[in-house]
Amino acid sequence: MAKPKNKKELLQTPKGMRDILPHDFLYWKAIETKAEDIARSYGFKPIRTPHVEKTELFGLTLGETSDIVEKQMYAFKTRGGDALVLRPEGTVPIMRAYFEHGMHTWPQPVMLYYSGSFFRHENPQRGRYREFGQFGVEIIGEESGLADAYIIRVFALILQEAGFKKFTVHINTLGDKECRPEFRKELVAYYRRKVNSICKDCKRRLKENPLRLLDCKNPMCVEIRADAPQMMSYACPSCRAHFKTVLEFLDDFEIPYTLDPHLVRGLDYYSRTVFEIFTDPDAKEKPEKKSEETPASAAEEPEKKAGQNEGRIALGSGGRYDTLAETMGDRKAAGVGGALGLDRIVDELKERKITPFKEKAPVVFLVQIGAQAKRKSLVLFEQLRKSRMGVAQSFSKDNLRAQLELANKLGAAFALIIGQKEALDGTVIVRDMGSGTQESVYQKKVLDHLKKKMKNG
Ligand code: AMP
Repeated sequence: MAKPKNKKELLQTPKGMRDILPHDFLYWKAIETKAEDIARSYGFKPIRTPHVEKTELFGLTLGETSDIVEKQMYAFKTRGGDALVLRPEGTVPIMRAYFEHGMHTWPQPVMLYYSGSFFRHENPQRGRYREFGQFGVEIIGEESGLADAYIIRVFALILQEAGFKKFTVHINTLGDKECRPEFRKELVAYYRRKVNSICKDCKRRLKENPLRLLDCKNPMCVEIRADAPQMMSYACPSCRAHFKTVLEFLDDFEIPYTLDPHLVRGLDYYSRTVFEIFTDPDAKEKPEKKSEETPASAAEEPEKKAGQNEGRIALGSGGRYDTLAETMGDRKAAGVGGALGLDRIVDELKERKITPFKEKAPVVFLVQIGAQAKRKSLVLFEQLRKSRMGVAQSFSKDNLRAQLELANKLGAAFALIIGQKEALDGTVIVRDMGSGTQESVYQKKVLDHLKKKMKNG
């Protein structure tokens, strides 16, 4: 193996990838736990699929001209010659699993949730990483618009419970294979007339993926987009009825939404409903307990980040994919789903100084002075751990004062002190960290003693 050129580089994560350090991990864990709890109560079951899939699976389903397939896949050949890819998204692997494991024979719909890493070789910037976490939900085997609204409701609940007070759901319909071709034709005709005024990327999109023309952020193209044909005007009666059902359910769930005729997702498998959930730029939330009404000052405006739409950051998105099963395996299965971006949720919460978890202080800190005390206290430590009252200790500190300082810093209610004398006579000093009073108790009785003290306040 070649020697690394630069040792400093060797000690850095690959570009666009990050370590999640202990404090940040608490945010991740808290969000994932909340998300799982909500998804489970709403009837979703967990699924985990491999981090790698066959490369051709994505080319077939996402579209050869989609950004992901064209530019962003981590594709590689194994030593055995298999063409594999680090999964760039979650829906396709789940649909593969649905058929591979005969889930189409289970009672329908099959409702699944997942959480994990996904990989896209994008230009890294704040809010856009090459390895990123998503929490996703899928409802497969259900045509009704209720399912679309249900997904959005679950995401809205997760975001609310995570601590976001305001966010906006953008929603659109992309029609289906009956009505979309007509819209596409009109869209292409419109943009052909404007071809000299659109950007270089859009000239390519016009040939390869005309729907993506509506997605362009170039100011010239945004201006031209204002008069472009809109899918809603071409939607067939069944697509219209479906969209109406989705919106009615969102009204029932009291989820505000914005109809966004320019919202298209970059993937071939979407049909009918597509949605994206953005933070609200005007509601840069204040730290908890401060007035929600105070408008954010210009100085507090977030710096430009990835996934932004007019200052908003996309926290999640998804849509319906009724023809995905057909593309994959000539089978039928309607479906709808979406994913929340965990990196962005964590980044945004931290920026807003919202903490989605409470750091629990230990009830007891076990102070040990001397090697014998450390050995003797192992059994006691385990008893305390099993009692679930919350126990901490220091492995490295030996000095009484340093350990009491640490107990204080952690907010422990009691310190249990075992020195050489206590190690020999089987006692322990119980120190009330609030009042500083101390008493000597037999180690065997200390658990009951502590429980009594806690009960008496
Ligand atoms: P998508 O799979 O593209 O529909 O994305 C769903 C959500 O995942 C987005 O709304 C983002 O919050 C998040 N996301 C997508 N790509 C990235 C990325 N490269 N880095 C961080 N988050 C991402």
